Amino acid sequence: MKDSYDVIVIGGGPAGCAAASLVAEGGQSTLLLERESVPRFHVGESLMPECYWPLERLGMVDRMKSSKFTKKKSVQFVGASGRTSAPFYFEQNDPRDNSTTWQVERADFDKMLWDRASELGADCHDETRVLDILLDDDERCSGVKVRTTDGEVKTIESEVVMDGSGQSSLIANKLGLREDIPSLKKAAIWSYYKNAKRDEGDNAGATIVMHTIEKDSWFWYIPLSDDITSIGCVGDNDYMLKQGMKSEERYNVELERCPGLQSRLQGAERCDKVHVAKEYSYWTHRHAGDGWVLIGDAFGFIDPLYSSGVYFALVMGERAADAVNAGFQKNDLGAGQLSSWCEGFKQGSSLIRKLVEAFYTKEFSFAGFLKDNPEFQGNLTDLLIGRIFYDGAGNIFDEMDPAVAKAQAEKVMAS
Ligand SMILES: Cc1cc2nc3c(=O)[nH]c(=O)nc-3n(C[C@H](O)[C@H](O)[C@H](O)COP(=O)(O)OP(=O)(O)OC[C@H]3O[C@@H](n4cnc5c(N)ncnc54)[C@H](O)[C@@H]3O)c2cc1C
Repeated sequence: MKDSYDVIVIGGGPAGCAAASLVAEGGQSTLLLERESVPRFHVGESLMPECYWPLERLGMVDRMKSSKFTKKKSVQFVGASGRTSAPFYFEQNDPRDNSTTWQVERADFDKMLWDRASELGADCHDETRVLDILLDDDERCSGVKVRTTDGEVKTIESEVVMDGSGQSSLIANKLGLREDIPSLKKAAIWSYYKNAKRDEGDNAGATIVMHTIEKDSWFWYIPLSDDITSIGCVGDNDYMLKQGMKSEERYNVELERCPGLQSRLQGAERCDKVHVAKEYSYWTHRHAGDGWVLIGDAFGFIDPLYSSGVYFALVMGERAADAVNAGFQKNDLGAGQLSSWCEGFKQGSSLIRKLVEAFYTKEFSFAGFLKDNPEFQGNLTDLLIGRIFYDGAGNIFDEMDPAVAKAQAEKVMAS
């Protein structure tokens, strides 16, 4: 490890690896730092189809195609009564290659991205923890302080620090930029199963989102390779973790309350411990400064519902890297240049947030909405695919916002 680089990228997740790959490819001397030993376990296994484009840019598509990862061609929803919706087939909306995506073991997927960053010239160091960010009184960043794998604490200088430290969100925490999203104060409890039942044909690799009765929580059902299925439950933080039940007990209770899971779990065996993540939804009110920029979860995270996290991380890594490379060319690494991509990203991602809020409005029914407004089926599938960065991507909300507001008002009237 040298004492100085053009760019230091913190975090060996999708955001950090994408950013490090592209700034290194752009000709900047780049250091990528990860505190864990790579490969490392991570939640977040289901990709959105639009991941295809950043993966293509990174030269990863052929590797993904020849990997063992499960192919994902659709998303399905199972209601609180156990009724299954017609699958949303990505290909029906867009018959190109990008309509097949993947369910990934994150340790393997993130390692592939890490190796790619190294191939493209980034100097990649795992087991190296960033202890502090060097910021002057004007919040101008000049590098980081790290503890290396052999325990040495040292300062490394750089022109730019790209913070892809995930939920640790080092810079946002240091500068007080994080804002909770009170309506999304959720927790997730999940585990892994062997031999859980899969659907046939094109639906075999589908992500299935299943409500429990009374919609107090929902489950993700993500078929991974080697006949392992990731099955996770999400609900309000207090409901999941603060009602006098241990997390495993709550998980078991919710499994029993989920009609969609009963037949799928017959003959299946849990093959891992129960994992917990809580209060993971937040946003930041500033995303870049002089010599620093936030990417991926370090910028913000909405909710696991539509599997948008890895896609957002890749897109942010890509867009921020372009801004950094252009900044080096123009000799401008100020806040304005490094945040030049943020407004466009926020506009697109806000559509996913709206879709999440609609799902958590118990009285609102997507099936009912589509029955009344079948012309929006394609627009909704676009959002589930992650196609959110074009004019008109949010057209559905002209009709859906009033329908959600009506459902909320009906709830208030009833109570
Ligand atoms: C319950 C749950 C389920 C989810 N399911 C999905 C899903 O199905 N699909 C999906 O797309 N997304 C999902 N997500 C979101 C997804 O996990 C994240 O959005 C995604 O991993 C973000 O990538 P990232 O690169 O920003 O951060 P991460 O992948 O978290 O990577 C950040 C890295 O930074 C490292 N780091 C942290 N601090 C330091 C430090 N001080 N020094 C050095 N390194 C450091 C960490 O070890 C980590 O490896 C889920 C999230 C949750 C909470």
